[in-house]
Amino acid sequence: MIHDMPRGMGSGRVEQLSSFAVRQAELNSLAYIDYYREVIAPASDAGSHRPRLTRMSVVEGIGRAAEAWSETFVRLFGNRLLRTCTLLPFRGVLAPRSLIDPHRKWCPLCLQEEHSTTGDTYEPLVWRLTDVEWCPKHDRRLEVACPICCRCRQDWMSFKARVGCCRYCGRWLGQESSIGDAEPAHIGLYYARFCEEMLRLPAALKDSQTLIPGSEIACALRDVFFAGSSHQMGRALAMPTGLCNEYCAGRIPPSLMFYFRSGLHTGATAEELFVTNVFSRDKLALSEQLAFEPYRARARRTDQKERVIESLNQALTSFPPQSVRGLALQLHVDPNFVWRSFPNLAAEISTRHSAYTAQLAASRRAEFTADVRAALDRFGPSIAPNQMKAILEDPACYLNCWKREVIMEEIAAVLVDEAPVGAMVKTSSNLQ
Ligand SMILES: [Zn+2]
Ligand SMILES: [Zn+2]
Repeated sequence: MIHDMPRGMGSGRVEQLSSFAVRQAELNSLAYIDYYREVIAPASDAGSHRPRLTRMSVVEGIGRAAEAWSETFVRLFGNRLLRTCTLLPFRGVLAPRSLIDPHRKWCPLCLQEEHSTTGDTYEPLVWRLTDVEWCPKHDRRLEVACPICCRCRQDWMSFKARVGCCRYCGRWLGQESSIGDAEPAHIGLYYARFCEEMLRLPAALKDSQTLIPGSEIACALRDVFFAGSSHQMGRALAMPTGLCNEYCAGRIPPSLMFYFRSGLHTGATAEELFVTNVFSRDKLALSEQLAFEPYRARARRTDQKERVIESLNQALTSFPPQSVRGLALQLHVDPNFVWRSFPNLAAEISTRHSAYTAQLAASRRAEFTADVRAALDRFGPSIAPNQMKAILEDPACYLNCWKREVIMEEIAAVLVDEAPVGAMVKTSSNLQ
């Protein structure tokens, strides 16, 4: 068996474990399912939790699935650093809930760039973090839907999974260029940069060093920046005081959002937060005017719904009318989600769009008919197909059903108008 090491190791763009596993299967010219059966499953220790091949196991998180998978890979390849392809080093530092997105996200430009420069590609771990929705390298939102088959909810696993390819239709997801989002969300870019900086840290730790536990970080922040008051800290970060107390007491590890807000408010870097705990108060003055939205335990779907409904309402008055599918792809959500959540609005948009496309098709047909008529006026009904193709500048006009139909109809009309009944038989070969 051939194998290599995870890409981007020691950087903020370290490869995610599932991308690494898929790439090893590709290196050995095996389908992913066969690689799992032949290599991964036999390598798992009988006594420990066996790495399971289920869609819902989060291989990159900090739970049991990640533990089982990373232990198996460490045993297979003999490198402890493979744990840095998951969030396991952040156990006790970050709250595990909703930390990793069970579905894939990707930046098509990054995929393509990596492929053009190295001839190979990989999917970084940072794309799997739920809070990361932007690519800071290209200032664009990460994609969640395949541009060809439009399927969202791309699992980390499929029997024939390939890196950088759609899990459903298998198409390559990289793109040379794309129309970026008009206005990159600065806060989104900050989150992504913060996470890249954070993911770089575990590989840089010395042998016996570990990341600082979440409770110690919360206490240090509270004491250095907020005069030892959880209430003050809660107010500054727009988080409930009770929650800050829980973090400081070590009853629950702080959420990633807590670190984002602390970093933004105090100017502390990820390294200062997770490794050194040495803070400087100089940067505080710059960010004191920052005001956060009140922290609520809101479902991600609620935010998504608000974003979608706003765009749907806008789409009702915009011109040219967009299709529900096009709109969903533009918003980076599943078209089925739009249909399920807003059936009436989606139906209204669809009606508008289909009326528009019907009108467009009719005008295109009228234009084409006029062109055919002009050609027939000039060259007569015995015009050769090649000549017709050249005049219309459309080499495929006889292959397209409706265009062929129009040409036949127009030739027939001219023949009926001009020729005596007997001539129809002679020239009927033109209709073929
Ligand atoms: Zn990118
Ligand atoms: Zn696809």
